[in-house]
Amino acid sequence: MTNKELADLIFPEITQTIADYEKLYPERNLEEGAKVVRFAPSPTGFMHIGNMMSATINYCLAHASHGIFFLRNEDTDQARSVDGAMEFIHHVLKHYNIYPDEYEFAGETKGKYGPYIQSKRMPIYHAFIKHLISIGRAYPCFLTSEELKEIREYQAKSKKRIGIYGRYAKYRDVSNDELARRIKNGEKYTIRFRSEGDFTKKFLFEDLTKGKIEMPENDIDVPIMKSENRLPTYHFAHVVDDHLMRTTHVVRGEEWLSSLPLHYELFAAFNFKMPKYIHTSLILKKDQDTIRKISKRKDPEALMFYYEEKGYPPLAVIDAVLTIANSNFEEWRTNHPDTPFYEFPFSPKKMSSSGALFDLDKLDNISKNYISKISASELYEKYLAWAKNYDEHVYELIKKYKDDTITFLNIERTTKKPRKDYENYLSIFPKTWYLYDEEWNKPLTYDFTKITDKEEIIMIMEEYLNNYYDEADSEEVWFNKIKALCDKMGYASNMKEYKENPNNFKGNIADFTTVIRVVITTSNMTPNLYDIMQILGKKRMSDRLTKFKENYNN
Ligand code: GLU
Repeated sequence: MTNKELADLIFPEITQTIADYEKLYPERNLEEGAKVVRFAPSPTGFMHIGNMMSATINYCLAHASHGIFFLRNEDTDQARSVDGAMEFIHHVLKHYNIYPDEYEFAGETKGKYGPYIQSKRMPIYHAFIKHLISIGRAYPCFLTSEELKEIREYQAKSKKRIGIYGRYAKYRDVSNDELARRIKNGEKYTIRFRSEGDFTKKFLFEDLTKGKIEMPENDIDVPIMKSENRLPTYHFAHVVDDHLMRTTHVVRGEEWLSSLPLHYELFAAFNFKMPKYIHTSLILKKDQDTIRKISKRKDPEALMFYYEEKGYPPLAVIDAVLTIANSNFEEWRTNHPDTPFYEFPFSPKKMSSSGALFDLDKLDNISKNYISKISASELYEKYLAWAKNYDEHVYELIKKYKDDTITFLNIERTTKKPRKDYENYLSIFPKTWYLYDEEWNKPLTYDFTKITDKEEIIMIMEEYLNNYYDEADSEEVWFNKIKALCDKMGYASNMKEYKENPNNFKGNIADFTTVIRVVITTSNMTPNLYDIMQILGKKRMSDRLTKFKENYNN
């Protein structure tokens, strides 16, 4: 029996040849230097920060070169598939506005190089496997799982390389007639690649991030088609898909680097040009004194849910991801504060090859800065949209007090150095709740600093609200009145005098304003007090003094 006859026996229904597919998916007609990149997640888990880094890098590479960014759903591991994983990926890509140019999802397809879902590409894979069998570069293998286990245990025990190669590749040289007899007999088989490599020889490979790497040739006859559902393995699908989809650059996790000799040999077996590779480093995290790989199980920030739940602005997360992806990014961002991230000239050489340390404090800083620069009304809209999904109570309150909220968010925002109070939308309410009357019915804790005596505080506040405070006052007049009262009640409005003779006073102007601040907000750290008072008005401040009288025990 010839190889071709064996191939026909295994795939009788496959009539398309690989030449047919070459025609069906011609070279893309793009401008010189345009990159075709792909994000190829497996829906075996929810999108994580490593996926996010790949997707962002892909988006930048495609954008900068006027290329194509496509999404391929690698769903061949159906036993491990997780409900909702693909929906979440699409949701995240939309949320961050890094949506691909080509994809297939929820009945909608964009792009001419699909199907973009691997389980829908069976006839294509089978045509390519059929081709390899007919040229003698693949064969059916009948090793049972018990036999495979025995081989693995023997190899482990005798410290040999693990895998089906050399004499372990029992069916490699069995005659086609015998293989055909077993197939007709209904025996289960996988299809294995017939490697021609020599493990003692090395070849040179250039990864765009890691540079030139010398690797031993592959000599393992890996499975390319699984027995149970006739789906291809990752390695085989990678070669076929990235060839037919005309991928120019593969951005993928460095865990795939060790399979590269196999991919190299598979591309060569078809005479296909290999794409270029960017193997991205593991994402690391500082955990007390050690640095370790970020863990989906242990670290909530490893999964992309985290950032939306906390309400980080998408652009801040992207900047944080690019900061660890490329050592040039931070400097570029400083010099181009308002340029969209996708204009960043991403350089694979500037990626750390030893691991990318992801730091939530860094994200908080980036995010605080970002939030400080948007207008109060834009921030309000984003905060409201976040609250609608994540906190109904906050949503109702800020909807009711829309104007107060915007005015508050605008305090010290339009200055040269705006306040950087909020790292995400979740952090706004704990710092602004005192604006909302309804919140004052909850148990209260007053953060007074120096002056804590209830009688003294009441005395200051009554005198102030009854005889000094006037909503119509300018900030200057308002402050002069506070100073006047401060002096009258035995506190020093003049810091110099206070420092010279602190014992002559009950306290200083800072202690005095703290009393007013804490009674009307409970907090001793707030944005500009004058502005807060303007929002609250005299009536609400008096109500808060009443609350203070009822609630405060010193
Ligand atoms: N489906 C593979 C994964 O999720 C993709 C690797 C690649 O990008 O080639 O790990």
